[in-house]
Formats: sequence, C-alpha cells, structure tokens
Amino acid sequence: MQLTDYIRTIEDFPKKGISYKDITPLLMDPKASAFAVSELIKGLEDKTVDKVIGIESRGFLFGMLLAKALGVGFIPIRKPGKLPSVTISQSYDLEYGSDTIEIHEDSIQKGDRILLHDDLLATGGTASAACKLIEKLGGELVHINFVIELDFLEGRKLLPKAKVNSLLHY
Ligand code: 5GP
Repeated sequence: MQLTDYIRTIEDFPKKGISYKDITPLLMDPKASAFAVSELIKGLEDKTVDKVIGIESRGFLFGMLLAKALGVGFIPIRKPGKLPSVTISQSYDLEYGSDTIEIHEDSIQKGDRILLHDDLLATGGTASAACKLIEKLGGELVHINFVIELDFLEGRKLLPKAKVNSLLHY
C-alpha cells in the first residue's frame, strides 16, 4: 500500500508560502490508517511501551490508535491552559517568537517507558520540547514516531536520532 496516496499537499496553508501536508485523507480510509498503525508499531511490540504520548492536536489521532494497538494508556501534551489539572510546561523557539506545551504532572510514573508520537516532524522544536517534558517527569523515552517527516528541515537533529522513525519523507 502506498501511503503517500493518502496525503494531500495544500499550498499556502495556513500562511502564504507554506506547503501543508494534510493527513485527513489517510484518516478517512480505514484500511490505509490501519496499515499506518501497523507500520508505526512495527518492532515496538517487544520493547515494552508503558504509555503513548501524543502532541496536540493531530498527534492525538494516531496516538490513541497506537495506544490501543499496543494495549497501553494515552497521555496528551497540549497547548497552554487546555489541561485541567496541575501541569508542567516547556517553551521552545519558533522562527518568530516562542511557543509552550504542557503535560499533566501526574501522568507519567518514574521509569515509565514512553512512545512519543506526532503527525509530522518539521523543525523538531515541538517534539524536542515534548522530550524535555518526558525527561522532567522521569519517563524513559523508548521511541518517537511520526507519520510524516520534512527531511529538508532537519528536525531529527534536535532529537535522539536512533529512536526516531517516520513513515513518509518529503
Ligand atoms: P515543528 O515543531 O517540528 O517545526 O512542527 C511540528 C508541528 O507542527 C507538529 O505538531 C505538526 O502537527 C505541525 N505541522 C507543521 N507543519 C505541518 C504540516 O505541513 N502538516 C501537518 N499536518 N502538521 C504540520
């Protein structure tokens, strides 16, 4: 199955000059999304993952499916002010300005083995901030996966490379 057939490129979204990779066609096709899940968990069955963490908001979509496939719980990382209980935060730099993400401080138990997931790796700022949150709470990062990686932005450089896997590369 050719997963690139289920990714659509939308030019100038959300801003002029951005070539946006849209995963909604993949979500709409049950066979293709099931195939994506099976590819994303390949090799992880014997690595003992305790929890899957997904990054707001598109990381929730496959993140929950991965958690279900692995038979483990799911933890959301969200934008500031969205999580209802006590959180810890991590800020990261953007091209202009900065952004922040948060996680519930009681979501990870020390030593929990974590699979981190997001739909797309671009500059790596978001995923690397998520890794810092996991580390602060004492989680052990087992693996990081993405549906799509924009290779030319070299986001992988900010992450523990050996642990990173993306299904599709552009
Ligand atoms: P980074 O922090 O790696 O620069 O950006 C990654 C974040 O931005 C991810 O959470 C991802 O959802 C979002 N993102 C950036 N560009 C795209 C895109 O072209 N398509 C999709 N689906 N998400 C994007």
